[in-house]
Amino acid sequence: MSDIPKKANVNPVPDLCMGCGLCANLCAQQAIQMEWSETGFLVPRVDSSKCVGCTLCIRKCPAGKGVYGSASHVAAPDIWGAWHRDESTRKLSSSGGIFSALAEWIISQGGCVFGVVWEDASNAVFAKAETMQEMQAMRGSKYTQAQVNGVYREVKKELLRGRKVLFSGTPCQVNALSEFLGKAYDNLLTMDIVCHGVPSRKLLLKYLDEYRTGKKWVVGLNFRDKEMGWSSFGVRRFYNDGTAAFLPLYEDLYMQLFLSDSILNASCYQCPFVGAPRVSDVTLGDFWGIERYHQDWPLQSGVSVVLVHTAKAVRVFSELQDKVELYPETYENLPVGGIKLHANPKRYQPDILEKLEKEPLKKIVIEVCDIVRWGPFKVNRKWAIYRMLRAGKRFVYRLLGKQ
Ligand SMILES: Cc1cc2nc3c(=O)[nH]c(=O)nc-3n(C[C@H](O)[C@H](O)[C@H](O)COP(=O)(O)OP(=O)(O)OC[C@H]3O[C@@H](n4cnc5c(N)ncnc54)[C@H](O)[C@@H]3O)c2cc1C
Repeated sequence: MSDIPKKANVNPVPDLCMGCGLCANLCAQQAIQMEWSETGFLVPRVDSSKCVGCTLCIRKCPAGKGVYGSASHVAAPDIWGAWHRDESTRKLSSSGGIFSALAEWIISQGGCVFGVVWEDASNAVFAKAETMQEMQAMRGSKYTQAQVNGVYREVKKELLRGRKVLFSGTPCQVNALSEFLGKAYDNLLTMDIVCHGVPSRKLLLKYLDEYRTGKKWVVGLNFRDKEMGWSSFGVRRFYNDGTAAFLPLYEDLYMQLFLSDSILNASCYQCPFVGAPRVSDVTLGDFWGIERYHQDWPLQSGVSVVLVHTAKAVRVFSELQDKVELYPETYENLPVGGIKLHANPKRYQPDILEKLEKEPLKKIVIEVCDIVRWGPFKVNRKWAIYRMLRAGKRFVYRLLGKQ
């Protein structure tokens, strides 16, 4: 049996480890495995019997090395509001379905797509899609940390074969791919997401456990079901007996805790990859708040904010005119926090991880999310106050004839 030390020396700054898996992919001895830590995040473990002490993993580790971005990237990217023309594609995607448009384009050119799929309800993993059918499983945000495994090596293999490749992941994963490759490839298009962080897997395991009875358990999840619209954050659970249930945000304990920003990876609160310039060619997010400017956009099925960082991405989008609607937008209209979005460190509550061992999720949600009764609903207190103030402001404006 190989000796895997509990605390690997490969990760020089444990609190800043993003679990991006660059070290594991780089190691020529295959001495590094990414494993779940006690707190529920991916961390490297070194098999010291295989390690030859080359220190490549330590030298390349992005943790604590400051802000990244290639010199070929523009500092202030083009911003577009965009959506896939096909409504059913939008409904199956988290925002406007722009990932699908990019993936369809790559596959139609004989290329392949690397993105995240559910292996089962408790595991999101990177996979390769060669066909439109395979690509569909990548649609939709899996709000948990995805296992990278050997994906950067696989991407390189496909690039060296001369195939067009789309790689889609979080900003730290796109950075890891770029560091792994060490040079630019014309046939590679990288897409990252406006990511505010990944929650502990312990939360997902606890959630699945709480909804497990002797006969019935959750086998699949859609974290962005649009039955109540794009901005509702409704969750659909799929069960082993073939049934499914839709839960609005205020009834789903996982989504409430994820969105509370209290239980994310410690490194996400100081993520170096969220600003501009970015490492990726294109960044996609939800265009929150756009209803203030464009009531005529498809606000029920989803609108993406698209940040285009490279000339390569501009060229690709120019070939997607028949698939997507694209409108130039401005920094002022970006959601609060814009592209420099990351989790608010003030909301970090590492003690929740201990609470997960002892307390039911319902109790934790009430404590953490500051839930109060609002009419027939239970809502977050700050959110309720904000909505009341906003309604009051509108009322005063109307009285003054300003609207
Ligand atoms: C953990 C996480 C946090 C996010 N936080 C925000 C946010 O705060 N604000 C915001 O505007 N947008 C956020 N997003 C992005 C947003 O939810 C959409 O993914 C994005 O707008 C693209 O939507 P789409 O409709 O074009 O594509 P979709 O069809 O939704 O495509 C999703 C793409 O994301 C990739 N993906 C899904 N899950 C993961 C994962 N766990 N890790 C890495 N890649 C994944 C898939 O491979 C696919 O390429 C987040 C996404 C994730 C996964």
